[in-house]
Amino acid sequence: MIIKVSDILDEGLTIDRATLPDFLFSDAAWRLDSVRLRFERDDLDVLVQGEIRATVPQVCGRCLEPFGAHVTAGVDVRLAPRPTTGDNVELAPDDLDVAFYQKDEIDLDVLIETETTLALPMKPLCRAECLGLCPACGGNRNIVACGCRDRAPDPRLAVLRDLAARRSR
Ligand SMILES: [Zn+2]
Ligand SMILES: [Zn+2]
Repeated sequence: MIIKVSDILDEGLTIDRATLPDFLFSDAAWRLDSVRLRFERDDLDVLVQGEIRATVPQVCGRCLEPFGAHVTAGVDVRLAPRPTTGDNVELAPDDLDVAFYQKDEIDLDVLIETETTLALPMKPLCRAECLGLCPACGGNRNIVACGCRDRAPDPRLAVLRDLAARRSR
């Protein structure tokens, strides 16, 4: 969906899921759960604030199982008209949250996709208490209680160790 900057009135413009019934990410496995974005003019700039919630397939960093990560993207970005004179636009360090729009048009699909991507977890976890893989046997501890770490030493090994200790005396 394209939003025309000139269509944003003084009272602003609000976009929600009902405004975007057919929204699809470029990766069809991603799902937009909810969106609420407020667009307000600030002279030539447009301020966008709100929240995007999406479900995105990820692989758990501990147990390596795929799962659908619930991603919440807080949006707070300033869109400025792309300068037409040359490409030598120097952005000040505090302008990092500035993006550009072109020819009076804001591509909402790109905006939603970009903000969602930025909000993806650095270390995805299928759940906070994921037990991960056993370093000894490689089993998924969420599924199998292999007990590697808790297993008591084999009593037969203990006898051999005692024997060895006695001989070395
Ligand atoms: Zn996991
Ligand atoms: Zn194990």
